[in-house]
Amino acid sequence: MIIIASHNGAIGIADAVRTLNSGGSAMDAVEIGIRAVEADPDDHSVGYNGYPNILGELELDASIMDGRTLNSGAVALMRGYPYAISVARQVLERKLPHVLLAGEGAERFAREIDAERWDDMLTDEIREVWRRRLAASGSSGDTPELAADTSLLDWVKLATDPERVAGTVNFIAIDGAGDIASGVSTSGWAWKYPGRIGDSPIIGAGNYADNRYGACACTGMGEMAIRASTSRSLALYLQMGMTLREAGRRAMSDLRDLGGDYIGGMNLIALDRDGEHVGLSSEAGRTYIYQHADMAEYESVEREVVEIPARWARIVRE
Ligand code: ASP
Repeated sequence: MIIIASHNGAIGIADAVRTLNSGGSAMDAVEIGIRAVEADPDDHSVGYNGYPNILGELELDASIMDGRTLNSGAVALMRGYPYAISVARQVLERKLPHVLLAGEGAERFAREIDAERWDDMLTDEIREVWRRRLAASGSSGDTPELAADTSLLDWVKLATDPERVAGTVNFIAIDGAGDIASGVSTSGWAWKYPGRIGDSPIIGAGNYADNRYGACACTGMGEMAIRASTSRSLALYLQMGMTLREAGRRAMSDLRDLGGDYIGGMNLIALDRDGEHVGLSSEAGRTYIYQHADMAEYESVEREVVEIPARWARIVRE
């Protein structure tokens, strides 16, 4: 039994391991671990008190995948419900004939299942950071005015500036039955265009688990993981017979083929069905954590670097 997580999962990994040790499933462990991060007011990239979109609204994305069946549940652009991972899991558990609910539909579903709702999802401190960021870019920070009269197209660059804060939490678990589950939750890019959905709720992009091979979850520029199907690619490379490390390096290297202006950083964690794990990043110095069920504490591991050059590229047919 093992849990691996992105470094910001540290706050939830003990609960996740306890869940496995008391007979809980990999799905339970992933949900419990991620909930702790979603509730943490000091993590501004996940759940409650994340950095909002350009209009100052917090829109959450999350997904969970069950490696036993490849069943998945996901929500996107959900407002007002901090535990996005739990709502995502219910999309799966309640046997909706759907995988992904977004926006008002996700909120309606959350209400119908009595998911915990918080009236205020942002602290004044974070609202102030958002206001200052808009002001520094020439706005008065008056949201209604920005929403009604301003072409948000002119503001999109805010979401890609180097000062933007992003982040996501990844959890992957193998339980006592050898079953694998993976979960991802995020508030997405700070100051994103309203309605923007990242890779986290997209099965195959930011999240994938298959008992037969392994699982993968991503953080970083979601647009890239969507375009390259990064998590599913890694699982497929395992299926083709590559080692975990080879599969991870290959999935990261695929991102180099992407053309366009917004080539940025990408990070993934992955494990195979034997519990071997790996963390990769396009930047040096990034870490991830893991804890076997019999370890008293988690260990932190430096991720291996696979560089993704920031350049404009075009695919040329040979
Ligand atoms: N992957 C997340 C997204 O694109 C953000 C991040 O991990 O930095 O929404």
